[in-house]
Amino acid sequence: MSAKKANLSGELKKYFGFSTFKGQQEQIIENLLEGKDIFVLMPTGGGKSLCYQLPALISEGTAIVVSPLIALMKNQVDAVNGLSSDDGVAHVLNSSLNKTQTKQVFDDIKNGKTKLLYVAPESLIKEEYLDFLKEVKISFFAIDEAHCISEWGHDFRPEYRNLKQIIDKIANVPVIALTATATPKVQDDIQKTLGMTNALVFKESFNRPNLYYEVRPKINIDKEIVKFINQKKGKSGIVYCLSRRKVEEFAQLLQVNGINALPYHAGLDQKIRVANQDKFLMEEVDVIVATIAFGMGIDKPDVRFVIHYDFPKSLESYYQETGRAGRDGGEGYCLAFYDPKDIEKLEKFLAQKPVSEREIGLQLLNEVVGYAETSMSRRQYILYYFGENFDPINGDGAKMCDNSSNPPKLHEATKDLKKVLEL
Ligand code: ADP
Ligand code: MG
Repeated sequence: MSAKKANLSGELKKYFGFSTFKGQQEQIIENLLEGKDIFVLMPTGGGKSLCYQLPALISEGTAIVVSPLIALMKNQVDAVNGLSSDDGVAHVLNSSLNKTQTKQVFDDIKNGKTKLLYVAPESLIKEEYLDFLKEVKISFFAIDEAHCISEWGHDFRPEYRNLKQIIDKIANVPVIALTATATPKVQDDIQKTLGMTNALVFKESFNRPNLYYEVRPKINIDKEIVKFINQKKGKSGIVYCLSRRKVEEFAQLLQVNGINALPYHAGLDQKIRVANQDKFLMEEVDVIVATIAFGMGIDKPDVRFVIHYDFPKSLESYYQETGRAGRDGGEGYCLAFYDPKDIEKLEKFLAQKPVSEREIGLQLLNEVVGYAETSMSRRQYILYYFGENFDPINGDGAKMCDNSSNPPKLHEATKDLKKVLEL
């Protein structure tokens, strides 16, 4: 691949206005430009998009970016086009385009104007797109949200499974895969499915040292939460519940108790949903009570607590949901209420699913129960799940959980560590 590799910092400044790279961005980009396959595991907000946007902008040809969500693609395309005065630098290619629009996209690609082409995997298989893309110069492929390939991820998309064959049909160019899901199972699955077991792997730590983790038994839960929130008066927080009905009930209960709270779930009227979300972002309301439908792409830096009224289905989702606290590096209190009966309910629910889905679901539940019941450092437990070693005595944020600030007897902790190592 030919590209102006020389002055990457200069290009960063020129296109994005940033003076320094974040984390390992520069090494990632250098290696991609040298033609290597790359695998990037970086937490949300780490700056993954720039790892393919910048090299695409300075390479000859068009980079194909595979991404699962049309909304996400549109945002990125607008952002990239905003970087230059030219509108065709980035395009989305999908079936919502009419003939004229599709022709415009094809022309921009042929003329070398388009540097980034965003496509959903299901669009990429279309014959007319395939035939065209085979004939033009492709700089590299970027597979964003690559965990969608894996049934072990939290957002499995069957269309991602065939990506490797499609890529091979289009061009023999480097591939960069990126995800914020770093469990070893998912990582392994992605690399095998994309045929990139030899890729250079760049992994950043998933530790969030400013988050405090606590698990409490689910007893007198309504009172406990009201008391907790009253101690954090005026601060922003999220309470996650499993069902829409619970969301509405509990938002009401908080309101009756003088707490400024609103509900959010996918069953609410679109207008109300957006209005409630905006009120939370604008700080007109302190607490949002929500199903897990709330949070994707929400970037409020000063969320001070995330409470799980019901226990999450996997440690992965727990990490993503609690990750919305303390984005600014300030306080972030993550409190989850645990009742083994709730887990039994989830197991019953899984019993109705097809075998493979059920088995995966049960395994994920086992791990989350392990987290609830452990007496070891919760941070160590979470990071171990992401394949990361954490020193529970001297590591960054070591004291920031119920078990570590109030340590259990040593022999119990050792027993638990053995359990987790056998997972
Ligand atoms: P991810 O996809 O890893 O969740 P994004 O690519 O959306 O993260 O980037 C998160 C934020 O970080 C964005 O607002 C982006 O502009 C910013 N960012 C990325 N790289 C840099 C950098 N080198 N310097 C400053 N900000 C950056
Ligand atoms: Mg991203």
